[in-house]
Amino acid sequence: MEQAAQQYLNTFPVATFQKLLLYWFERNMRQLPWRKDQEPYKIWVSEVMLQQTQVDTVIPYYERFMSRFPTLEALAEAEEEEVLKYWEGLGYYSRARNLHQAVKEVKERYGGRVPDNRKEIASLKGVGPYTAGAILSIAYGQPEPAVDGNVLRVISRLLHIEEDIQKAKTRHLFEEIVRHLIPKGRASYFNQGLMELGALVCTPKSPHCLTCPVQEVCRAYQAGMQDQLPVKGKKKKPKTVKIVAGVLMEKGHVLIRQRPDNGLLAKLYEFPNVQWDDQEPDETISRYLFDMYGLRTATVEQWPSVQHTFTHLIWEISVYRLHLAEPLDKLNGFVFPQEEQPFSAARWERIEDLERYPFPVSHQKIKKEIWKRL
Ligand code: SF4
Repeated sequence: MEQAAQQYLNTFPVATFQKLLLYWFERNMRQLPWRKDQEPYKIWVSEVMLQQTQVDTVIPYYERFMSRFPTLEALAEAEEEEVLKYWEGLGYYSRARNLHQAVKEVKERYGGRVPDNRKEIASLKGVGPYTAGAILSIAYGQPEPAVDGNVLRVISRLLHIEEDIQKAKTRHLFEEIVRHLIPKGRASYFNQGLMELGALVCTPKSPHCLTCPVQEVCRAYQAGMQDQLPVKGKKKKPKTVKIVAGVLMEKGHVLIRQRPDNGLLAKLYEFPNVQWDDQEPDETISRYLFDMYGLRTATVEQWPSVQHTFTHLIWEISVYRLHLAEPLDKLNGFVFPQEEQPFSAARWERIEDLERYPFPVSHQKIKKEIWKRL
């Protein structure tokens, strides 16, 4: 064992902790749809969905996704746009794209069987150390650590570790520690128990120490330090970006476009929009639509603004309903950008067909506003 990990585990009653945690987990685990069996594909999908997203939010998405893509082959054979449609609303869409590419690779390279060793599984797109550890331990019962935010918090309190959990070095230390805490033959329940303890008992704010099953061995509790741990480096404040979006509607059609192939929310659909600073926002979007697509528009009214927060960014979107100032003969088909642009052509789509396209959450809110006003 590495020296740093050894130092924290010296004198820690490992066997008592294992017994207390497993006893509690076996009696208190939540009945979650992905706990019905240990199929690696299902564990994988659930773990990807659960990254950055709460369990209650994930459950209906997981069930819908599984009824459409019940097997790895079904997902590998699907079109990416349909996969994104089933992910619509869960956010962090690169997770869905990576999962889709990775299952295709598993189908082609490994005959559809999810690899059962860290080297191969960690080489798949989007599979980081946590997801690899979760699949290997939960689905295959291997003694591999799966250290997510819950586990970082629990371990830092349990062993009273004051290292900054945002540092890669600390994550490595915690993985090493968990590797030595896993009881023989019980990796699946032990790792799930640690995560469950973090989700239900050892919560970020006001941990429930008085009813905690591992209280008697918890060093932070003994030192009264549970509210000071874990130590987290200061987060940068997200930057606010002002955007103006135009809902250009004409004779039952609306102008939408697909986002570029790479970057934030890649390949999802949206209403045309652009950043604005000091000009009036509705003038900015009208000028943009003219410069970009050669469309002359006029403002009809302002709709409620939409705000969306990403990890490092806040979008504040002013929304304007527009119409064409110069009618067009033909409203079906594409409108091509005037010059080389990162965006593909915009398209006139019938309003009733908008549901066919995956939109990010912020633009789904704009779409809902259309339905409200029809
Ligand atoms: S006693 Fe409190 S701080 Fe320690 S593991 Fe339990 S809930 Fe967390």
